[in-house]
Amino acid sequence: MDLLLFGIQGSGKGTQGKLLVEKFGFYFFEAGHELRKIIASGSELGKVIASYIDYGNLVPHNIIMDVMREAMDAIPHGQKILFDGIPRDQDQKRDFDAIMHAMGREFRCIEITANEESVIARLLQRGKEQGRMDDQDETSIRKRMNIFHEKTWPLIEEYRRAGYVATVNGDGSIEEVHARILKSLEEFGFKVR
Ligand code: AMP
Repeated sequence: MDLLLFGIQGSGKGTQGKLLVEKFGFYFFEAGHELRKIIASGSELGKVIASYIDYGNLVPHNIIMDVMREAMDAIPHGQKILFDGIPRDQDQKRDFDAIMHAMGREFRCIEITANEESVIARLLQRGKEQGRMDDQDETSIRKRMNIFHEKTWPLIEEYRRAGYVATVNGDGSIEEVHARILKSLEEFGFKVR
């Protein structure tokens, strides 16, 4: 079974995702990371992508779906995948669900909650350390959080109605949050050794 991670910027998805990859051997598909790799390649497509990411906007639908399709073609069928950062709006959800259905891939979702005011400071620090332009000012961070509320939240609710979502409190140490996620995964039927 595949897994989707949801949560606002700075909720710890990346950190928790890495731990889950170590534990379960998932292939980690981080949408933002995939897009930043294309930017780093210096291609024309990368320049287009940067013109969205740098200002905290979602990249156009076709670009992100092509990136996902390309990755899915390269991942061996039996390999379980951990998705972070996709789908992010209703159109992406529609295509994401269709791709997963066509490939016979089942998934469940973990939503990590976080206190927005306390994560803003952490994100500003990340912006300094990693040179990420979209994390360097509070306006851009808040803009991305608003996109999360307006566009991503409704689709999480849809998955919740389908019984696919476990919500995990993201407050506390990395280990505490990890343990809560493992408990939810066990309830979903993942084999937690
Ligand atoms: P993240 O690393 O998840 O915070 O993503 C960084 C940025 O990449 C976002 O603010 C968007 O500009 C872009 N991005 C990541 N995932 C998506 C997606 N699924 N759809 C559109 N844009 C995305």
